[in-house]
Amino acid sequence: MNEVSVIGAGLAGCEAAYILASHKIPVKLYEMKPKKFSKAHKSPLFGELVCSNSFKSKNKDTASGMLKLEMQLLNSLVLKIANLSAVEAGQALAVDRNLFSKELTRNIKSCKYITIVNEEVKSIPKGYVIIATGPLTSDAFMASIEKIINCSNLYFYDAIAPILYGDSINLNGSYGAFYSSRYAPNQKDYLNCPMNEEQYDLFYKSIVNAELAKLHSFDKPKIYEGCMPIEVMAKRGKDTMRFGPLKPVGIKRPETNERYYAVVQLRKENLVGSFFNMVGFQTNLKYGEQKRIFRQIPALKDAEFLRYGSMHKNIFINSPALLNENLSLKGFENIYFAGQITGVEGYLESAACGMLAGYFLKNKIKGVRFTPLPETSIMASLIKYITNKANSTNFQPMSSNFGLLPMPYPPIKSKKEKHKMLSERGVKDLKEYINSNGI
Ligand SMILES: Cc1cc2nc3c(=O)[nH]c(=O)nc-3n(C[C@H](O)[C@H](O)[C@H](O)COP(=O)(O)OP(=O)(O)OC[C@H]3O[C@@H](n4cnc5c(N)ncnc54)[C@H](O)[C@@H]3O)c2cc1C
Repeated sequence: MNEVSVIGAGLAGCEAAYILASHKIPVKLYEMKPKKFSKAHKSPLFGELVCSNSFKSKNKDTASGMLKLEMQLLNSLVLKIANLSAVEAGQALAVDRNLFSKELTRNIKSCKYITIVNEEVKSIPKGYVIIATGPLTSDAFMASIEKIINCSNLYFYDAIAPILYGDSINLNGSYGAFYSSRYAPNQKDYLNCPMNEEQYDLFYKSIVNAELAKLHSFDKPKIYEGCMPIEVMAKRGKDTMRFGPLKPVGIKRPETNERYYAVVQLRKENLVGSFFNMVGFQTNLKYGEQKRIFRQIPALKDAEFLRYGSMHKNIFINSPALLNENLSLKGFENIYFAGQITGVEGYLESAACGMLAGYFLKNKIKGVRFTPLPETSIMASLIKYITNKANSTNFQPMSSNFGLLPMPYPPIKSKKEKHKMLSERGVKDLKEYINSNGI
């Protein structure tokens, strides 16, 4: 029988299971929640977004915008539901995370060819398998993966940002929070918490001297640049935060046109705006220190925390050494890997990787010869990077970016024009691939 065991009902596992099921291939989808939770997962639902609620830019001339267009062409379930549960976030696609996971779970559970098994998988099942257990794969299962990959794993840490109760944010006075978007004062996508120079100096001094939470049982953390804790950023120099998440450029109070020295931005966590995420404030400060220091931001002087920021384990395998280009494991071609555990980085990247693992395995089961996706496609270039192009001696996670794509010849000088061209070219080539190969 050609039944497939998909392990992990995160973004990657759900996409992989959905693709297989839509081709009438029976799937057993294993998920250890709600019996067992990792330290970051809290919800019993599938496709839980453990940190930010953003799927990044919708602009089609950015790498994430291009990835969205490609995923749409391949009928991504995750993207469809993300669009249906979107909250206002300017150029970004951000979602009401609870609504998103609820709808994803409902859609997956209603698939005729998918059987849900709520248990922790501790050893790799026989037959066709897709391993999509994510960056927080359970220890027992990791140990059994380690046995067959016969190589030591790589560990590093990711940090998550605090979430605040909306009604505890101060909206009054000239340092109260105000709604506006960068360069678009009338758009109400972000709640901005302004500071003058004196307030920023005090905040900066507090943060560089703050006490950190203890990290145990792991080696020295390796910080991923894209998810750098705010205190690590602050220690790089007094103004570093003002060129990062506290950048004041383009933000002014709509009623008075007042500009500020530094601005902390808050983004809605849910449609009604009862919770807000502190954008770029992933942190490993002790909880008490977060409360004390973040309350020094005038608009957050009475802020109540729904969740404090924290740092977590993140696991990925050495894909360039271990995986074939179709995401199957070298020497064990019935076993596929998908999602963040392969070393792709990001929500949509993980979902896209799950789609491709499902698609490649579906073809194998149906006896269709492997035809690589066009290398101008951003999904394909990402998978090619992690399985083939990256250096296996110092492999680091990768998110979608234009640097992965073959550059146009003759070169295009304007960055904007080049990105537009790369995006249009990749999407067109993928359309042609789908027309000739189906999906
Ligand atoms: C702390 C943290 C913060 C992050 N923040 C962001 C962010 O802000 N933006 C971003 O784009 N990406 C972020 N990431 C990366 C993010 O995890 C991935 O982008 C995405 O969630 C990975 O999807 P996935 O499907 O591969 O894994 P997950 O979404 O983690 O799904 C894996 C699933 O497998 C289940 N599972 C694990 N082990 C077993 C087992 N043995 N048996 C059965 N089920 C099992 C888990 O319960 C989980 O439901 C963060 C990661 C971490 C760890």
